[in-house]
Amino acid sequence: MRKVIIILFSNYPLQLYILTFSRYHFPKGERIEMKTQLENIYSSAKADIENAKSINDIDEIRLKYLSRKGEFNSIKKGLKDLSDEDKRIVGALANQITQDLEALLKEKHDLFYQKELNEKLQKDRIDITLSGKYIPQGKAHLLTSTTNEIVSIFQNLGFSVISPELSPEVETEYYNFDMLNVPKDHPARDVQDTFYVKGMPGVVLRSQTSGAQIHVMENQKPPIKVVAPGRVYRNENINARKNNFFHQIEGLYIDKDITFGDLKGVLNEFIRLYFGAARPTRFRSSFFPFTEPSAELDVQCIMCHGEGCRICGGTGWLEILGCGMVDVNVLNGVGIDPDVYSGFAFGMGVERLAMLKYAVDDIRLFFNNDKRFLEQF
Ligand SMILES: [Zn+2]
Repeated sequence: MRKVIIILFSNYPLQLYILTFSRYHFPKGERIEMKTQLENIYSSAKADIENAKSINDIDEIRLKYLSRKGEFNSIKKGLKDLSDEDKRIVGALANQITQDLEALLKEKHDLFYQKELNEKLQKDRIDITLSGKYIPQGKAHLLTSTTNEIVSIFQNLGFSVISPELSPEVETEYYNFDMLNVPKDHPARDVQDTFYVKGMPGVVLRSQTSGAQIHVMENQKPPIKVVAPGRVYRNENINARKNNFFHQIEGLYIDKDITFGDLKGVLNEFIRLYFGAARPTRFRSSFFPFTEPSAELDVQCIMCHGEGCRICGGTGWLEILGCGMVDVNVLNGVGIDPDVYSGFAFGMGVERLAMLKYAVDDIRLFFNNDKRFLEQF
């Protein structure tokens, strides 16, 4: 007959009594010894967990008791010397204690984790009602960014940017006027209009970027497809619409079979890309010495959409740029055969295009270096 003895240990969970003693008679010597060891380790582990102060302590306790080199494992190694039945009994006890300790460790770990998290949140609390810190940031001047934008549109249409040495700001009358078919008695040559360099006869501050056309055609064989951005100078009285220097972007396309249709296609596409949408344009007959035929390109007023307003002077149209087919005299002058090649040229004012796009009503704002104005763009 089997006898059942129950001895109550203070640190021993009820389920372990049931598991260990309920079904068996007196255990053998080794079984008792191992059981006692397990119980001792269990008590000591529980006490350690009770006294733990941090997640770090919990990790160390887990390492001390439950790791591969931990105390439980070294006891489990002794299981192999027991009888099969004892192995089952002591093994089950060891597993139960292990599970129990894991649960206690997790509970304590979660407690510390929550506590440490709360402390950290309290310590690192951010006051989102405080106003932000202003960090000044440099950026390109509106004229620079507008120039870059226009140039990149033409680059996407297959134009390349002329190298700076072919587009000098200090120029000779020869390139600024003569080679561009400007007659000797043309009023643009007058000192009233053009700045001449003192003490250097025939040297001017260029009044247009068109001289770059001549330089590039002298240096390069067709096909030529370039844009030349740069500063130009005119002897103007300064007012809201005019300054004595401003910026232009010159374009030139020379190849076989280039027609006015190509010119219209390229410039209409430019308008669409620059103003962000296709809008009505018109090519109005005009005159420039270096193009024939010549035209001014108007775009429907971006403010009133053709109704007529202050910006467009009631006409519903805005003048954007001058253009035309390169004059035969100009081609002959640089040694390009006009019977083989043809081409078009155009020139636009960067200030004017920026004023129209960003509704700037005074050209002087670009040059006053007033940060309140510049920071808006
Ligand atoms: Zn208008």
